[in-house]
Amino acid sequence: MKKFACVALAATLTAQVAAAATTVDNAAIANEKDGANWLSYGRTYSEQRFSPLADINAQNVGNLGVAWYMDLPEHKSLLSTPLVVDGVMYFTGSFAKVIAVDTRTGKELWTYDPKVIDAAGDRGRVMWDSNRGVAYWKGKVFVATGDGRLNAIDAATGQEVWSVMTVDPKLAYFINGAPRVFNGKVIIGNGGTEWGGLRGYVTAYDTETGKQAWRFYTVPGNPADGFEDDAQAMAAKTWTGEWWKHGGGGTVWNGLTYDPAFNRIYIGTGNGSPWNQKIRSPGGGDNLFLCSVVALDADTGKYVWHYQTVPGETWDYNSNMDMVLADLTIDGKPVKAMMHAPKNGFFYVIDRATGKLISAEKIGRATWATHVDMKTGRPVEAPNARYEDGEELVYPGPLGFHNWHAMSFSPMTGLTYIPTHDLPALFTDKGIKPTSWQSPSFQFDPGVDLGREDMPLTIDASVLMAWDPVKKEKVWEQKLPGAWNGGTLATAGNLVFQGRTDGKLVAYRSTDGVPLWMFDMGVGISAPPITYAVDGKQYVALLAGWGGAAASMVGSITAQHGWTYGVHPRRLVVFALDAETKLPKAPPPTFAQPLAQDDFKVDDLLAEQGSFLFQRNCSSCHGGGAVAGGYAPDLRASQAPLYPEAFKEIVIDGSRRQQGMPQFKELSDADLNAIHHYIRRQARKATAAAQSGK
Ligand code: CA
Repeated sequence: MKKFACVALAATLTAQVAAAATTVDNAAIANEKDGANWLSYGRTYSEQRFSPLADINAQNVGNLGVAWYMDLPEHKSLLSTPLVVDGVMYFTGSFAKVIAVDTRTGKELWTYDPKVIDAAGDRGRVMWDSNRGVAYWKGKVFVATGDGRLNAIDAATGQEVWSVMTVDPKLAYFINGAPRVFNGKVIIGNGGTEWGGLRGYVTAYDTETGKQAWRFYTVPGNPADGFEDDAQAMAAKTWTGEWWKHGGGGTVWNGLTYDPAFNRIYIGTGNGSPWNQKIRSPGGGDNLFLCSVVALDADTGKYVWHYQTVPGETWDYNSNMDMVLADLTIDGKPVKAMMHAPKNGFFYVIDRATGKLISAEKIGRATWATHVDMKTGRPVEAPNARYEDGEELVYPGPLGFHNWHAMSFSPMTGLTYIPTHDLPALFTDKGIKPTSWQSPSFQFDPGVDLGREDMPLTIDASVLMAWDPVKKEKVWEQKLPGAWNGGTLATAGNLVFQGRTDGKLVAYRSTDGVPLWMFDMGVGISAPPITYAVDGKQYVALLAGWGGAAASMVGSITAQHGWTYGVHPRRLVVFALDAETKLPKAPPPTFAQPLAQDDFKVDDLLAEQGSFLFQRNCSSCHGGGAVAGGYAPDLRASQAPLYPEAFKEIVIDGSRRQQGMPQFKELSDADLNAIHHYIRRQARKATAAAQSGK
C-alpha cells in the first residue's frame, strides 16, 4: 500500500536524470559539496552526516510537512540509513530486504529479498531482523545479510549479481551493519560474540566479482597455527591463557571509515569474547586489538596503526561506534582528525596521520575510569571496576553511553551531535568458574551476569549532546525520552535532526539546541534521518520503525512508550517545505496486559530455572525481565505459554519461523515448562504492581 502526494513532475525528467547520472566512485563519495545525493552510510567518506543543503533552515523549518510516504507493513525494525543516487532511494528493511524507490513518484522500483529467514535457519536467533543499510558503487548496490552473506545487486533491476558467504555458518556470526566501498572494493565485518566464541575480522571483496581481496583479523588465533601477519604476532604478546578457545572477540559489527587522504580503512573493533577478561585472558594483558580503532592500508589490509580505547576490556565496552573524519584546528595547527565516541563514555580525537591521541574527554557518567592519562594514552581505572570482588555497579552498562546510533559533525558549528543514554549495569561473576566456563553456542552468555530483572524506569537519563571536539566542552544538551534514541543529521541550514524513541522527529537549531520543529511519526524511531535534493528541491527522509536489539532487551525503559508488536505502523516518510500530505493516524500507545492466571500455581524453583533459560534464549527479543519493548510479543500477555502443546509448536517445532520467531530444537518440554513458570511469575508481579498502584 503506497500513497503519494505530489505526482506532477515525474516522466519528463527521466531523460535528464539519465544524462546527469552520477558515477558513484571514490571521487563522488568523497564530494562533500554534492548535497543532492547521499551516497554512503555516513553520506560521504568522512561519515560526518553533514549536508551542505540549506534550503530547509532554522528560519523556515516550521513549514516542514510530509511530501509523501510509503507504508512498509511487512517490516519490523527499520534502522537503515537510506542512500539516494540521482533521485533513486535505496534502503534496507527487515531481514536485509533492499527496496529501491523512485523519489519523484514515490513508487517502488524493485525489492530484493535475500531470504534471510530460510538461509539462517536455527541461526536466526542471534541476529534479529536488523539491518543498517547498503553501499553503492558504479551501478551496484551491496547488502550484507543476517546469516553472513555479502550480496551485490544490479541497482537498475534489483537482480543479484554475486553473493559470497563471509562467515563460517556453523558459528554464531551475524551481520546487521552496512558495507562500505572504496577503490573497487567492498568491505564488511560481523558480530555475534555474545552468542558464541568468535574471532573478529573484516574482509574486502572485489566489487565486480565478489572475489576476496584481503582479510584482517582483529585478534590473534592460536599461536600453534602460526600467525597470519606481523600484527597478529604483535597482538598475541598482549594476551594470556588460551584465549583462542573462546575466539577472543573484537568483531567489527558497525564502524568502518575509508580515508581518501591516506588511502586507509579504519575499523572500530568489538568487545572481548567473552566479555569477562578473567575467563578470556586470565593473566590480564591489553588484549589487542579489542576495543580499538585500527588503521589498515585500504589496498592490502595491512596494519598501519591502532589506538585502544579500553585495554583488557571486561564490560562489553566496544569501539564499534562510527569514526568521523574532519579537518580540525588544534593549538593553531591544522589536523586531519578522527572523532570517536565509543561505548565507554569518553570522546576521542585522534591524529589520523600517526594514530596519536590528541584528546580523550569524559562526556558522560563513566565510573569505570577516572580519566585518560594523556602521557600514556591509557584510561586510569577505578577500584573494583573490573568486579574483582565478584560484583560492581558500573556506568555505563553494556549498552554504552553512546551506541551505534550515528553522531553527526557540522563543519559550520564545529560541533558533534551525539545521541547518548545513561544506563548502568551490575556486573557479577560470582559462581562463574573461569577455568571451566564454556563459550555458548547460539545462546546469550557473555561470561558475566548482569541480573535477570527488568531495568527500573527511574534510572533513565538520555540526552542529545552537542560537543565541541576542539575546546573539549559540552556546548548544549537536550533531554531525550527513554533510551536508545536515533542517530543525528546536521545541515548547513543550521539544523540538527533526530528521531526519538517516543516517535517524534525533532529539528534543533544546531548552534544552541533550541527545538524548532517536531513531527509525530506514530511509532518509535530507531533510524537516522537523511536529506537530499531532487530537481533542485531539498527533502528530509526517515524510516520510522521501532526495533533493533535493545529496543526490547532493557524491558520497561523501552516498553514505556507503548509501541506494541504488530500494532504500530512502519513507514518511510519524506518531508519538504510547505508540503501538507496527511499521515494516517497511528493507534495510540498501547501496553501489554499481563495475564495473572490466578489459578496457576507458580513453582519458585521452576521459575528460577526459567529465568535463567529466558535470559539466555528469549530476552533479546522478548525483553529483560520478560517485559517486551514492543519489538516482539510480550509473553506475559500471550496466551501461547498457557497451552504446552501450542507453546511447543512455536518454540521447539518452529511454527512461526517465517514470522521471524526462531526455532529452539534443543529446548525440552521441561525447559518450556520452567520458562512458563517464570513468565507467569513475571506476569503476576506486573498485575500485583498495577493493583497496588505502583
Ligand atoms: Ca557486544
